[in-house]
Amino acid sequence: MKNLKNALLLKQLYIQKEIGFCYTSSIPYCDDEPNLSLPHNLEELQKQANSCHLCQLSKSRTNVVFGEGNPKARLMFVGEGPGATEDSMGRPFVGKSGELLTKMIENVLLLKREDVYIANIVKCRPPNNRTPHEEEAYTCLPYLQKQIELIKPQIIVSLGATAYRYLTNDTTGITKIRGTIHTQNGYKLIPTYHPSYLLRNPSAKKEAFEDLKLIKSLL
Ligand code: SF4
Repeated sequence: MKNLKNALLLKQLYIQKEIGFCYTSSIPYCDDEPNLSLPHNLEELQKQANSCHLCQLSKSRTNVVFGEGNPKARLMFVGEGPGATEDSMGRPFVGKSGELLTKMIENVLLLKREDVYIANIVKCRPPNNRTPHEEEAYTCLPYLQKQIELIKPQIIVSLGATAYRYLTNDTTGITKIRGTIHTQNGYKLIPTYHPSYLLRNPSAKKEAFEDLKLIKSLL
């Protein structure tokens, strides 16, 4: 929970700065620091995320988009972050790219959307749909890591470059890495294009279809 601890420490320093401190000589966290472990069930974890203000994305969000789906899913999809529709509804992938993702799940993988679990790297919408900043992604990541730990999927499909980068710490471009299989932390990770990229670049759908066929063969 180093990221969470650092985020809390940074928040406390910003508060001190706002009330007039120019420097501090004391260490804000000492022996009686709060318990920073995250809840060990999805409902409690969601409650905690719903009231999270650990990064600046909390200021502009309408809803926290925790994630949804089968809590015992074998297959999990991870995107970058909520867009406008997701932010207003509090659900992941419910806008135009969500419609495409649902079609991919139902028409190619022959699964129901409720059979899988869908989440994002950050749970609050970045303003103007910008890519999450590094500190935002790393601050939010413990929630996703806990979701993965609790759901225990066999396969995680990372959608787009950002999801792949923060799940693996690898910055290889998505066009190069898509459709490959990476075994880590007890699951197989398969990167593919983000549905919003496919909407902008329909010619890439052929490659995404190949990736989905690979995923289907592994299920
Ligand atoms: S994006 Fe994540 S870390 Fe930032 S406020 Fe939202 S839930 Fe908290």
